[in-house]
Amino acid sequence: MSSTWLLLTNATVVDGAGNAPVLNASLLVKDSRIADVGTHVSRDMIPTGDPFEEIDATGKTVMPGLIDAHCHMTYGESRSEEEIDLYTSPELRTLKAAFNAQKVLRSGVTSISQPGGSYYIGVGLREAIKDRMVQGPRMTSAGRYISTSNGLTDWYPDSVGVPEGSIGIVHNTLDPMIDEIRHQVKNGVDLIKLADSPFGDFQSFTDDEMKAMADLTHQLGKKITIHARGSSEVRAAVNAGMDWIMHGNIMDDETVSALADSGTPLVPTLLLLANEAEWGELVGAPVDLRDGMKRLLDRTGDALHRARAAGVKLVLGTDSGFSVTPYGVWHARELELLMTYAGLTSLEAIQAGTSNAALMVGLEGEVGEVRPGCIADLLVVDGDPVADITVLQRREAIETVIQSGKVVVFDEEMLARSWPHERGLGYSTIDLTYEVVHGLGDPTDPQRVADADESAHDLPDHPDEAPDLVSAITRRERSAREF
Ligand SMILES: [Zn+2]
Repeated sequence: MSSTWLLLTNATVVDGAGNAPVLNASLLVKDSRIADVGTHVSRDMIPTGDPFEEIDATGKTVMPGLIDAHCHMTYGESRSEEEIDLYTSPELRTLKAAFNAQKVLRSGVTSISQPGGSYYIGVGLREAIKDRMVQGPRMTSAGRYISTSNGLTDWYPDSVGVPEGSIGIVHNTLDPMIDEIRHQVKNGVDLIKLADSPFGDFQSFTDDEMKAMADLTHQLGKKITIHARGSSEVRAAVNAGMDWIMHGNIMDDETVSALADSGTPLVPTLLLLANEAEWGELVGAPVDLRDGMKRLLDRTGDALHRARAAGVKLVLGTDSGFSVTPYGVWHARELELLMTYAGLTSLEAIQAGTSNAALMVGLEGEVGEVRPGCIADLLVVDGDPVADITVLQRREAIETVIQSGKVVVFDEEMLARSWPHERGLGYSTIDLTYEVVHGLGDPTDPQRVADADESAHDLPDHPDEAPDLVSAITRRERSAREF
């Protein structure tokens, strides 16, 4: 039986392991894995008669495909929490997820992990991609987040409860949490996702609950991670033995040392905050939400610089799936943000987006590196991401995506389309008061609009008033769904 070969010649090879790029190197792929790489590699190494393809990569960079450890395929580019939970049927949500998976792959992301989503759509999508029925990145998936009352995903009043379509499931005692983990494992998840407080304002799980859930998950042979934005829950999660931590926006020195000493990787997931804070205005994001995100981002920058100095391993994650983080558009921007907010070099940022993230997709040492023996998930980039990391954000610069040693062919016409979003049922964006109809001045004047909606605009000025921030943002989200 002959093998199929792919030869990439004369490239600058960035290995994803943090080593200096190798110039004028060639890379040989045998079937699905990398056979050899270096300046010594040539066409002569391919046995005569075996089929092979050759790509001239002169002036190009060859690097591992990106790995995004925080990608929510079931969110469908939602504009509100209600759209995420309520306004789409599971059937349609599944089709949307499959449609959007090809966009993620096209952008150069060859592996993702979905840390939470509605139903078991992520598990199904993972299987469909694995069997090549759906075009998309290789994938691991959690089920619904496990949360507590007042924690992330418990958005609605108790009179409503947590709807069936929610991305989360709420339990307030350990027994049903344990029960849920067993069911999720039975249903094929790769990892358990816990959700602590939304904005890091309090620790919602007890230390004992975290420990018991981590222990059971590990006993069942799965991984566990947690949405933890505040110092106390990050520290508790590290002590409980979570496999990696999501966010870590606010961390005191003690928490940073605990994280560094344990070797637990951190996936900061800066993109959602940065897109909302810096560009939210372009898409009608409420001003107080934008300001709140900006303040959280600034605190995150402080925490991450200390974490980096202490030697914490950082990983690429984007929270793609919201309307401000659409699929296949901004994944590589996280690398730029890791440079800005954590002080990484471009080579370190690439490492965060490749080899450091292999653990989250269950393929440590097998993907995320250009090294003989590794799975050949590769990118040919027209440009030098080490000199300018932003080149990876340009669709046309991602010239070729190679998955398991094969050049992926995309339906570019389909990729240019977007699935229409399903908005909430809104009657107006502001109240129809007497003044709006008969009153002074122009009713569309932005200042009037702001005044009319003032009750929902009271965000605290100081980030330490986080509980108020949460309720204010939740209030804003309720009114924001009409945007
Ligand atoms: Zn997320």
